[in-house]
Amino acid sequence: MTQARLTVLSGPSGVGKGSLVRVVREQHPQVWLSVSVTTRAPRPGETDGVEYRFVDQAEFDRMAAAGELLEHDAHMGASYGTPRGPVEEQLAAGNPVLLEIDLMGARQVRAAMPDAQLVFLAPPSFDELARRLVGRGTEDPAKVRVRLDRARIEMAAEDEFDVVVVNDDLEAAAARLVALMELSTD
Ligand code: 5GP
Repeated sequence: MTQARLTVLSGPSGVGKGSLVRVVREQHPQVWLSVSVTTRAPRPGETDGVEYRFVDQAEFDRMAAAGELLEHDAHMGASYGTPRGPVEEQLAAGNPVLLEIDLMGARQVRAAMPDAQLVFLAPPSFDELARRLVGRGTEDPAKVRVRLDRARIEMAAEDEFDVVVVNDDLEAAAARLVALMELSTD
């Protein structure tokens, strides 16, 4: 039996959350991934409504004030939030729901929905995470430093999560997450 459940995936920037979610959804298309709203500008290749819903600050603030966001947080000067309605609809329809959000967001979901399962994706080591972030080559050194400082803080909070999955091997980590979400394998 597939159990409808809310799973929150968090972890430091660069740890591979995006790749992990992609693998799990390729194997299990029934997993519904929340599309966050954000005030940051779209990156090349991103489409409104797919990776994010891109909104201006006024619309974001309106949604937050109206209680339309399950959680929200600011990150690198932009606001991010999870629209509440679609999450509740998917859970009510019996679909497994996955949120890929940051630590502050995970804490808010825990408070709002105590039954949610909180999964922390950890790098094999801090040095390995630093290597991955530098190797990505998409950010200037000052921004990499900010991300690493934030990663250190996030990694110190892994005890707050129900489960820690170490991303040393993408397929193995995906299998772990599939098991945690109790997804049927047919
Ligand atoms: P990026 O701008 O690189 O796509 O995401 C930056 C950070 O924002 C990532 O750590 C990501 O997990 C987090 N994030 C994305 N969407 C949300 C959201 O809806 N809520 C919260 N709290 N964090 C989010």
